[in-house]
Amino acid sequence: MTSIKPRDGILNITPYKAGDAKIEGFDTVIKLASNESPLGPSPAAVEAAKNAIDAGLHLYPDPTCTALRQAIGETYDLNPEQIICSNGSEELLHLLAKAYATDGDEVIYCQYGFIAYPITIHAVGATPIMVQEDNYTANVDAILTAVTAKTKIVNLANPNNPTGTYLVKTEVQRLRDGLRDDILLVLDAAYAEYVDQADYDAGLDMVNNGLNNTIVTRTFSKIYGLAGMRVGWAYGPASILDILHRIRGTFNVSAPSQAAAIAAVRDQSHVEKAKAHNLKWLPRLSEALSTLGLTVTPSQGNFILAHFPLGAEQAQAADAFLRSKGIIVRPVGNYDLSGALRITVGKDEENEKFLTALKAFMT
Ligand SMILES: *Cc1c(COP(=O)(O)O)cnc(C)c1O
Repeated sequence: MTSIKPRDGILNITPYKAGDAKIEGFDTVIKLASNESPLGPSPAAVEAAKNAIDAGLHLYPDPTCTALRQAIGETYDLNPEQIICSNGSEELLHLLAKAYATDGDEVIYCQYGFIAYPITIHAVGATPIMVQEDNYTANVDAILTAVTAKTKIVNLANPNNPTGTYLVKTEVQRLRDGLRDDILLVLDAAYAEYVDQADYDAGLDMVNNGLNNTIVTRTFSKIYGLAGMRVGWAYGPASILDILHRIRGTFNVSAPSQAAAIAAVRDQSHVEKAKAHNLKWLPRLSEALSTLGLTVTPSQGNFILAHFPLGAEQAQAADAFLRSKGIIVRPVGNYDLSGALRITVGKDEENEKFLTALKAFMT
């Protein structure tokens, strides 16, 4: 008997495990596990999605997301012709791997880099090359050293999830300068809107400067609070966008999702609120966790990677204790960080309850 077989590489994928949303025995939980926005989306985005539903779900959406690209272009001062929209930015990561890597090629990502990268690389049969980090931060020299004749793509999340660390603009430029011109640099800037550092740049300027081998991916899932709508976008050279348009799903962004994203990107006051809330809580949570004896990796995202003094067993016990109180944070053993937990910044009262529970566990 013969059975059908998937292409090589696919069985090497460890299926992605999303953060839990429920705990048995609890009607409501405090979910600090998936870097969702505690403020939710702009009310204007919700209204727009409802209107789009009322307007008729039997109609196909705009396949080119023209109005959405226009709105993004105006808000971020970008050429809409160089913007492509997608079903979450994860779709773009898959499309880029599919377009530019295949069997026998190598694709680089960082040691604690976003777990989606090895999935997209295996999916196309290419070989993931994991590069060591330095103090939970991407190391440009190590990345450049890992490049071989087979290297096709370098994936860099900046800031990175789950560490929250970032590379300064000059380091990203040094990375690009050190890579061969025929290597695609994918800058995944899912958390860019949260960053409050003058030396940070998401990479949009690199694209504006005419590089034809660098693309920046962005998302509406994080600060815009629209993870459930699945909208991502990328800013890149026309030559790469032309390739991605050929292979993407024709109607990859639903009509309600396009409408919600347009309203969301036009409501920058909501984005500022979300950023201010995050900037208020990052230092508070970091200080409180440090006081309890944990080591906190400095974060530019809406989450904190906290390392337990006694390592993996303690982290696991803390996770179980928090769950017994109805609080879900994110274990990161799948990143080989089993001595740590990743905690998303929640609402005021959620953060307070989390800190109270963790204090009870640690003392
Ligand atoms: C959350 C996240 C994304 C965004 O995923 P979507 O598919 O847009 O929801 C991309 N990259 C990183 C590093 C993330 O943490």
